[in-house]
Amino acid sequence: MSLSPADAQSAFDLTGRVAVVTGGSRGLGKGFADVLGRAGATVVIVGRDEDAGSQAVHSLAENDVTASFQHADVTRPADVRRVLEDTLRLFGRVDILINNAGACVHAPALDVTPEDWRHVMDVNLDAVWSCSQIFGRHFVESTAGVIVNIGSMSGIIVNRPQWQPAYNASKAAVHHLTKSLAAEWAPYGVRVNALAPGYINTDMSPVDDPAFQQHWIDDAPMRRYGTVEELAPAVLFLASDASSFITGSVLVADGGYTAF
Ligand code: NDP
Repeated sequence: MSLSPADAQSAFDLTGRVAVVTGGSRGLGKGFADVLGRAGATVVIVGRDEDAGSQAVHSLAENDVTASFQHADVTRPADVRRVLEDTLRLFGRVDILINNAGACVHAPALDVTPEDWRHVMDVNLDAVWSCSQIFGRHFVESTAGVIVNIGSMSGIIVNRPQWQPAYNASKAAVHHLTKSLAAEWAPYGVRVNALAPGYINTDMSPVDDPAFQQHWIDDAPMRRYGTVEELAPAVLFLASDASSFITGSVLVADGGYTAF
């Protein structure tokens, strides 16, 4: 059997599919919403900032992407259930969940407050769990669906010079939750993978701060940070049929950072 370039390209086509992107109104999530929409998907953006959400929907519409903003806090399961119900009511189906919303606190371990720890775990781990369970139930019943969890290279290495123990632990847990769900739901036609980015230029990562130049940039094999635009196609790959035989994987996109 031979695969033509057109066949290979069509594996990335999301026409007719509906994708939900948590934290899709800015940063990485906005880039993910954009690439999924440009590949043909209808996109539902989930977040707490109404203005940023409306602006993101407006810019998607300018590229002829059908999109909607759902105001929701992913740490509240009732909000997430409403997002699923509203998506099904508005668009009749949901095929893809991108668990992207995240939070980070930089602090040495002895200074991390119980509130800091709980906040990071609530957004990065508990919410990924509840979004996966709520959407996963629908996917398992439909015997189809794709989940992409945004993990981090911080789930593999310990970042420096800044300490961020809660964040690192949360992302390691996301990677293993990804494998657990992938194994359990593969027989139902549901794929679950994670993307583990390195340093990418967003509000969360102050990549231009001179304090981080040595360890974030100079010590990295590519000696630079990544951009949202060059990370987004990796999410399209994991969300589309281009990765139809891939589940339980953690795709590292870090410019080689974790190679050292
Ligand atoms: P940003 O801080 O730029 O954006 C975070 C997004 O998460 C916002 O859209 C925010 O939307 C949303 N969000 C946060 N809390 C909640 C909540 N409780 N409910 C709903 N939405 C929420 O972060 P990035 O774009 O940089 O990060 C996106 C993901 O990528 C995160 O999971 C992060 O850990 C991961 N990552 C980032 C890296 C980087 O270098 N930037 C590297 C590795 C991983 P709103 O404020 O509207 O609620």
